[in-house]
Amino acid sequence: MKVLVVNCGSSSLKYQVLEMDDASLLAKGLVERIGIDGSVIKHEKTGMDKFVKETPMKNHTEAIGHVLEALMDAEYGVVKSMDEIGAVGHRVVHAGEKYASSVLITEDVMNALEECIDLAPLHNPPNIMGIRACQELMPKTPMVGVFDTAFHQTMTPETYLYAIPYEYYENYKVRKYGFHGTSHKYVAERAAEMLGKDFKDIKVITCHLGNGASCAAVKNGICIDTSMGFTPLDGLVMGTRSGAIDPAVITFLKQKEKISADDVVSVLNKKSGMLGVSGISSDFRDVEKAAEEGNERCKLAINIFAQRVKSFIGSYIAEMNGADAIVFTAGVGENDIMMRELICSDMDQIGIKVDPKKNNIRGEETVISADDSKIKVLLIPTNEELMIARDTAEIVAAL
Ligand code: ADP
Repeated sequence: MKVLVVNCGSSSLKYQVLEMDDASLLAKGLVERIGIDGSVIKHEKTGMDKFVKETPMKNHTEAIGHVLEALMDAEYGVVKSMDEIGAVGHRVVHAGEKYASSVLITEDVMNALEECIDLAPLHNPPNIMGIRACQELMPKTPMVGVFDTAFHQTMTPETYLYAIPYEYYENYKVRKYGFHGTSHKYVAERAAEMLGKDFKDIKVITCHLGNGASCAAVKNGICIDTSMGFTPLDGLVMGTRSGAIDPAVITFLKQKEKISADDVVSVLNKKSGMLGVSGISSDFRDVEKAAEEGNERCKLAINIFAQRVKSFIGSYIAEMNGADAIVFTAGVGENDIMMRELICSDMDQIGIKVDPKKNNIRGEETVISADDSKIKVLLIPTNEELMIARDTAEIVAAL
């Protein structure tokens, strides 16, 4: 079966077509500037050069229309007609407490996702638009929703509840949800395979370190804790996000800076993290380059980032009563040799030792810990699209 994977943002859309018989990637692409001037589709059939077309796209339906056209193109396409696409898998950020796994999209599911807009006002609306656009253009093709929050639904109330008046949870569902679940699940499963162990019999700490970053504690095949919370602002320091801070800082800054609470939260989301501390950039490469040239604030930003990851690793080792493996994934986790070494430095007393030679690698599945490291440290490139395609094919095959 061929599966189309769609990941819709407010003005962009990423897609892939996978052949599920051998999990091969047939084509991938990106549509940018949907609804604004300069809309463009960048399509790439595996093994061929990228095809770039600038053409106006007023909305997501028009964008999907161009994607389907590219997929059926005589030269750059991968199918003769859309009937060859057996299913579409959609990445959806927030499914609240409703879904703990991927589901076939029905009108009930769409209603549930609409209800979650309150919880993810920036993410769920474009995700929903993407589904509606595909439904319009491919009315007979089954669609599956794969949720960023789903894998974390196994956390217990002790972990996901905040110690605030209980009625806030009852009335508004204020609790920890966690995100990046598809990535955490993918790399945790791969870690078990790489170590020759059963997923149900392994304790893994997964570190998804990209522009957005989160850690998860995965024990016996289920997630027991994760660093993001009610929103993706919580937990680790990120490119532009502060991660966890004392909430009293919000009202304090509101008074001092004479701005609204919304504005303070916006600063915490968009002007904090690596960007806020370094004053240079949210991009780890820029910050590291400036640090090498002697910029003290950049050095500090790097050390703060590493310190937070270290502290979550320690906390998860305590929560799981040990760990078999730590996994690094996503942009920074896969490519940043120095950061992986820094995070894992000085942890030999708790059984973590990275081998600098083995760690001198980017973007490949490999073990980077020393042979005598009790806890194995792994580098595993994430593949959320493959995970979405697999869930989609499995659900549709069972129909
Ligand atoms: P997201 O999907 O959350 O936007 P990614 O997982 O693509 O983010 O990660 C992007 C981050 O990865 C950027 O901040 C970038 O600096 C970092 N990154 C990519 N390559 C490298 C590298 N070679 N060294 C350090 N950081 C890198």
